[in-house]
Amino acid sequence: MNSIVVVCNNCSTKNRVPADKQHLGPKCGKCKEAFSFAGSAVPVELDDSTFPRFVSQASKPVMVDFFSPTCGPCRMLAPVIGSMARKFYGRVIIATIDTSRNQTTASQYKIRGVPTLLFFKNGQLVDQATGALPEQDLAGLLEKHA
Ligand SMILES: [Zn+2]
Repeated sequence: MNSIVVVCNNCSTKNRVPADKQHLGPKCGKCKEAFSFAGSAVPVELDDSTFPRFVSQASKPVMVDFFSPTCGPCRMLAPVIGSMARKFYGRVIIATIDTSRNQTTASQYKIRGVPTLLFFKNGQLVDQATGALPEQDLAGLLEKHA
């Protein structure tokens, strides 16, 4: 699981927060001040072992970017995905999964091409999109599911 380093606004302590906990209202380990992740949220990097529980237990809608590190359009989309994680923080959880290393999940959802974006609500697949969408189109899709 990837993590994110957040500097506390109150006491300036650096805290390392696992990416899958950034949506659960974590607090500073030193002074207990709640963090603001505005501007620093990152996509949650999922794998075959973390995917099922994360998606089914998420408190917010989840969008998962199924990508492969060798795919050009996936690399083009990656910064857009990062930008969406910041923009939609608190409304939609943005996650990624590397299909080249996590084929169980990819085949479970019949992923034929990458990038493919799956949208989940309460653990149920509600929408999907394929290809490197322009940022505006992706933001529109996220607004629809937020
Ligand atoms: Zn603090």
